[in-house]
Amino acid sequence: MPILSTGEILRSEARRNTPAGFRLRQILASGALVDDDLVCAVVGSRLRRDATGTSESSRGVILDGFPRTVQQAAFLDSVLADLGFPRPCVIHLEVSSQMLLKRLTARRHCAICGAIYNLVSRPSLRGSRCERDNGALIQRDDDSEGVILRRLAEYQKSSQPLVEYYAGSDYHRIDGNHEPEQILERLFEIAAPQQLLVEAYGD
Ligand code: AMP
Repeated sequence: MPILSTGEILRSEARRNTPAGFRLRQILASGALVDDDLVCAVVGSRLRRDATGTSESSRGVILDGFPRTVQQAAFLDSVLADLGFPRPCVIHLEVSSQMLLKRLTARRHCAICGAIYNLVSRPSLRGSRCERDNGALIQRDDDSEGVILRRLAEYQKSSQPLVEYYAGSDYHRIDGNHEPEQILERLFEIAAPQQLLVEAYGD
């Protein structure tokens, strides 16, 4: 399934040398959330475009980092209903603040291909260079301790209410403090019936 990451899209928009790009850079570096209307417009147009294509997205789309507010979740429900899709399968990866701080301050990515590494759990075999293309490994502007704490506070305020919003629907909470292999196993358990559901819809 294709992955649509709102953080990735916003970071690439923020690299533009335009007033909008400059404004976005400031918001991302502060750890605040980007305006609901802007994020919804981006996601809505991508979903509509992909849904009308004959591409791999007919099996579904993985939304990474969206929705982050109840308003975004309501928007997603309305777009999916418009396109004739079922409500989303929601996966909540719950990780303690302490563990998040540890993981995010050690996160690095390749300046060329974007591949993600971690100084503690997944260091590059080439040190400070990417294993794939030898690109320099750099840190995200918002992965400093101060900004991470601000992002966590924003999560509590704006995203935590989503748990209630999705209660009683196709909602799965996974303990994300475990090792990646264990988390993947849980994800597969959840995704297997989803796959059947998508295939049944396809028929
Ligand atoms: P992420 O890559 O998901 O960690 O997102 C990085 C940053 O992009 C966030 O801290 C927000 O500033 C912004 N962002 C990403 N997704 C959203 C969203 N759904 N709504 C608002 N802001 C977002």
